[in-house]
This record gives sequence, structure tokens and C-alpha cells, in this order.
Amino acid sequence: MSEVESVESFAERSRLWLADSMPRVDPDAYIHGLGSDEAELAFVDRQRQLQRVLFDGGFAGICFPAEYGGQGLSAAHQNVFNIECVGYQMPALINVPTFVPCGAVLLEFGTEEQKQKHIPSMLKGEKLWMQFLSEPSGGSDVAGALTTAVRDGEEWLLNGSKVWTTGAWWSDMGLCLVRTNWDVPKHRGLSVFIIDIADPNIDVQRIEMLNGSREFCQEFLTDVRVPDSDRVGEVDDGWTVGRRWMFHERNAMGGGSPLVSGPGVGHGGAGSGVDPSLVITEAMGRTDDPVALDLIGESLMLRRAATELTKRVGEGMASGAVSDTSAAITRLMNGVVMARNWTIHAELAGSAAVAWESEGPLDGVGVNYLMRQSNSIAGGTVEMARNNISERVLGMPRERTLDKDVAFRDVPKGPPASR
Ligand SMILES: Cc1cc2nc3c(=O)[nH]c(=O)nc-3n(C[C@H](O)[C@H](O)[C@H](O)COP(=O)(O)OP(=O)(O)OC[C@H]3O[C@@H](n4cnc5c(N)ncnc54)[C@H](O)[C@@H]3O)c2cc1C
Repeated sequence: MSEVESVESFAERSRLWLADSMPRVDPDAYIHGLGSDEAELAFVDRQRQLQRVLFDGGFAGICFPAEYGGQGLSAAHQNVFNIECVGYQMPALINVPTFVPCGAVLLEFGTEEQKQKHIPSMLKGEKLWMQFLSEPSGGSDVAGALTTAVRDGEEWLLNGSKVWTTGAWWSDMGLCLVRTNWDVPKHRGLSVFIIDIADPNIDVQRIEMLNGSREFCQEFLTDVRVPDSDRVGEVDDGWTVGRRWMFHERNAMGGGSPLVSGPGVGHGGAGSGVDPSLVITEAMGRTDDPVALDLIGESLMLRRAATELTKRVGEGMASGAVSDTSAAITRLMNGVVMARNWTIHAELAGSAAVAWESEGPLDGVGVNYLMRQSNSIAGGTVEMARNNISERVLGMPRERTLDKDVAFRDVPKGPPASR
């Protein structure tokens, strides 16, 4: 067995390779999600290229197993890489949800064939994945999925609608949670499938948001045929997969997943390594303003606390000292801290934050302010994280549910999704 490279040696090798191979962060870079379709597709293409450079250089999938194209190294190796790559352009877009939760779920529940087929193409940036969880009937009650799969020989026929799928229009593959059994309580009748978004029976429609972004999509699935070999996990046992799926998602949202690679952009920080609150204060000429200094202090303190909490909870989960459900703690922290930090940035910029099409250091401040709550919703809301913490981490009484022992067929539901 070959010897595992030491973390120190890996850090040194990463430093040299990054300086040679990766472009530096461009402060005037295009803001993802806010340009024309052409600009967006060019951005996504660039992310794929950057991922390919990482792959060819032997730095893609640091914690993914080597047999699927990863480096087979530890979280400590990933951590030092995350520090070394600050200031370089990184394909952040590919990490979530392609690597986590989709790749993580395949590693945990996929067949050998599924892993061989899909993980290497993820790590090369060839195939981008999306998660098809939320439905028009609601996203928090994931187990209440109405999208249905009915078996037809060696295939399944999928019908229904998924929504809020970020970037489905430029993505390739998806993990989709569907109902395969209506005669049992909701958690016991689910299954998970791999779907090809280019399937002509999947109609992807774009949703325009208040800030002009058209990244969100709603998909309508009409008799989508999926081979049984693309099922992930057992039939009707999709909740076992789904619970781990949501763990991986929360862990990524909380900044604690070792399968996510790149500088800590969570907590309202920046990939350039310089805290945005400092950059904005300087740009506004407020470095002597005591109010601004207070806000900078608060912002840095919040990020520091969030980073340390993520580290502590991550170590606790890795050692088994705390349960994996504790990922809800970091997920909650990240949602709250990011919203506050993006508010602080807007407060520091003052009225200049309103001109969100400006270029330079204030670029994105206004948009981030408008989007500040998104991180409290994406990946499961902070309210659901609070529920998880109280019920599953602290062991407080469970929320009352009326549909627990009732066949899902008999649970009252709203009207089906319409176009
Ligand atoms: C930026 C972004 C990206 C996203 N990307 C994806 C994606 O790629 N794929 C995908 O499938 N989904 C995605 N989503 C959707 C997201 O997962 C859902 O919006 C989220 O789970 C909430 O579902 P909902 O919007 O239907 O709200 P609902 O579930 O209807 O909830 C409405 C409100 O009620 C609260 N609530 C609901 N139930 C409870 C409860 N039991 N206790 C306390 N409070 C409760 C919620 O916290 C929320 O505030 C994304 C969302 C955002 C903002």
C-alpha cells in the first residue's frame, strides 16, 4: 500500500501547483445568475473548465475515493487546500449540489456501476447535477412528495412536478425523490432515481425572481422512463436515502462537508481572502468612522464564531461524539450569519449599495442584500434546522404530526401542480 502524503507536504504541493495552474480571483468577475443566458452559460462553461484543470492536476475530489477519480485523502488535506486556494478562481458552482449532496449520496447508496459511471464525470466537470426535492406543494415536508413513479417491467414511469431547482436549465443530471407507494405512511413509500435532465419528457421552465435572476426552474415530468438500474437505494426505502441526502445538504450549507472544495465562501465571506466588510469600508472612505469599525468587528466576529463552530461540530461528528443530525447546528449558524453579514455590507455601503450594477468593490452588495434570506431557505429552512436541533439533537418532544400512521393516499392534500 502506498504511503499517504502528509498534510504538510500536500499543502506545499497545492501552493506550488495553484500558483502555476489556477487564475487569480477577478474582482470584476461576472455575478452568477444575473446576466444574459449567454453570459450565464459562458460562466457555467468556465466552471467546468476550472474543474477540469483541478482534475488534470490531481486536485479534484480530494476526499473522494481514488477508485472513482478522487484523491482518496482526508478532511485535513481538504482543509489545507481550502486555505491555500484563497485568492484563486475555483469552480464553486460545481461543489453544491453536484459533489454534495448528489455525489455524496451516490457514494453512500449508489451501486458500484452507478459510482463508476457518474462520480468521475462529476469530478471532471463534465456532468453537473441538480437535486429534485422540493415540490409546488411544499419543500419543508420533503417526505410529502407527490411526484410518482410506477413500475413498468424493468423501467419506471415518473410523473409530477419539482420546483426551485437552481440551474436545472444548464445542468445534466439529477437525483429525484418520488413516491412509489401510496398505501403506506408517507415516509415509507418513497424511492430515489437518477434522471437525465435532457429527457424530452422533462419540461424545464424558468422562474424569474425579483432581482432579475432566472436561475430557478420548475420541471414537469410526464411519463419519464427511468431504468430500474438508475434507482438509488431500495424501492420504498427512499427516506433512508433522503435522510442522509438532507444530512449531506445541511453539512454543505453549514460549511462542514469535506467533499466541498474551495475557500470558505460561507458565512458571508469572500473567495479573495479579504473580508468584504473591510473592502467596502475602504471603498466608502469610512475607515475612521466608529460606526463602520463596529460593524466590521461584528462581521469578523460572526464569521470567526461560525468557522470555529463548524470545525467543532465537524470534529464531533467525525469522532462520533455528536450525532450527524448536529449538521443542523452549523446549517442554522451559516444561514443566520450570512444574512447578518450581507446586511452589514449593505449598511457599510449605505446608499451606494442600491446601485447594484456598479463595478468594483461594491459590486454585488445590493444584490446580496436582496438575497440575504435565500441562505436561510435553500438546503432546508432555518426553521426546519431549529426543529431538528430541538427534537433530534436536544431530545425535546417531537412536533405533533397527524399523518404519521396514515396511508399517504388518505392524507388530505392541496391541488396538483399546474403550469
Ligand atoms: C437559493 C435556493 C436554492 C434552492 N435550490 C433548490 C434545489 O436545487 N432543489 C430543490 O429541490 N429545492 C431547492 N430550493 C427550495 C428549498 O429547498 C425550499 O424552498 C425549502 O425547503 C422550503 O420549502 P418551501 O419554499 O416550499 O416552503 P414551505 O415548506 O412551504 O415552508 C414555508 C415556511 O413555513 C416554515 N415551515 C414549514 N414547515 C414547518 C415546520 N414543521 N416547523 C416550523 N416551520 C415550518 C418554513 O420554514 C418556511 O418558513 C432552493 C431554495 C432556495 C432559496
